[in-house]
Amino acid sequence: MRVLTARFMHETNTFSRVSTDMALIRRRDFHLENEIPQAFRGTRSALGATFEAADKYGWSLVHPVSANPNPSGIVTDEAFEQITGMLLGACEQKGPIDGVLLHLHGAMVTDSHEDAEGELLARLRRKLGPRMPIVVTLDLHANVTQKMADNANALIAFRTYPHVDMYDRAWQGAELLERAMRGEVRPVNVIARRPMIYGLDRGRHQSPPMAELLARADTIEGRGEALTVSICAGFSRSNIRDVGPSVTVTTDGRDPQAQAIADSFMDYAWETRDFSSFSLISVAEAVALARSAKPGDKPLVVADYTDNPGGGGYGDATAFLKGLIEGNVDKVAFHAICDPETVQQGMRAGVGVKTRLTLGGKTDPVMGGGPLSLDGEIVCLTNGKFIAYGPMGGGVERNYGPSMVFRVGGVDIILITNNGQATDLGQFTSLGIDPTRYTTVAVKSMQHFRAAFAPIAREIVLVDTGALCSEIYTPELFTKVRRPVWPLDPIADPRAE
Ligand SMILES: [Zn+2]
Repeated sequence: MRVLTARFMHETNTFSRVSTDMALIRRRDFHLENEIPQAFRGTRSALGATFEAADKYGWSLVHPVSANPNPSGIVTDEAFEQITGMLLGACEQKGPIDGVLLHLHGAMVTDSHEDAEGELLARLRRKLGPRMPIVVTLDLHANVTQKMADNANALIAFRTYPHVDMYDRAWQGAELLERAMRGEVRPVNVIARRPMIYGLDRGRHQSPPMAELLARADTIEGRGEALTVSICAGFSRSNIRDVGPSVTVTTDGRDPQAQAIADSFMDYAWETRDFSSFSLISVAEAVALARSAKPGDKPLVVADYTDNPGGGGYGDATAFLKGLIEGNVDKVAFHAICDPETVQQGMRAGVGVKTRLTLGGKTDPVMGGGPLSLDGEIVCLTNGKFIAYGPMGGGVERNYGPSMVFRVGGVDIILITNNGQATDLGQFTSLGIDPTRYTTVAVKSMQHFRAAFAPIAREIVLVDTGALCSEIYTPELFTKVRRPVWPLDPIADPRAE
């Protein structure tokens, strides 16, 4: 069997002013053709699992591209057409294809397509025909659409947040694809949604809405009532018609029960839409907490929720850093300010040099604080590459581009070139910083940081710097969303959608 596989993952924050073009996509986690086995074979990643499955089932894999740019603004038509063209071209040049296993995010928006994954799957379906098994793994922050459900045979979403099960979901997809190619099953999807922009506690699997539905999904799959049930919380920083949570149920052939299952799940998501397990504190409160540390304390981990690069935040908000420096807080490790220009200045100056640098706040100074001019010492310079062995890393190489540590008083500030949230201790240790030896560790992240940083923390708090990922829901921001929708409108009948 010849199986087409590819990874094309982008979570598009439509409110970002950073356009996602090919140059940005090529900067990190981008591989073509024969670079792909070398990068992913033997890793606990989605593609790592795909290679293992190919070995087990004797598949010949066609793997034109793996592209996983950091979340950012709208993807250019040129970039979407180029990567989609690689997939469709591979079907012609390397075919005939017997099955497809794709690793997509599910919240990509391009200049021309609000539902980029739906468009990609529709094109593949047109090319490969109605009988071709197409299995897709998705991030649980996918904004899943009817078009995606209709043009794939199975959608298999992550079940953890922090996401630590990409490898397992890819194996699940591979097993289902093998059965479908042998003709044992003919998977089809149904989808249910409700008029809501967000819900399910943003996908936190530890808290009641997701935990309850994941348990129900396990029961239904265990009884054989569905091949798979996928629960997606959606990605709410997206001004598109179909933003929001969804449940897809995949069965062997059309099954009238499937829609009833999906609807009952979404009824529960609707009832619990208000549930939130987290709250944010102000910069002043976070600084006061950091100042209260005693020598020898384990780190207070402070996460800037609103400048999360993993949700399309610019990663250069300075408000919390400014508070720490003005508050004279000692023993702080700060990750990170994404500022390629300042890293280049540091590279030219060299390690050990004491200098004044202007850092951060450049992409949009209104979002979480403008540039800071600081006197300090350049204490480390690297190429920003290391292998991530943390719970989310899978043993895959990360590349944050030229990186630097700038020491300002008691604050060690990491500056990076390629934007990304802190999910791995290697993002500190590769720059000579042992985060466990600091009494305050600052990161920019909503939830993913917990996988690696909760075990080293004495306490975790989330801080609001007013940056791009602030959860603001107004009709002025959400001009394209279907209406009525919660929380913008009163809803008479949530099942009317
Ligand atoms: Zn996600």
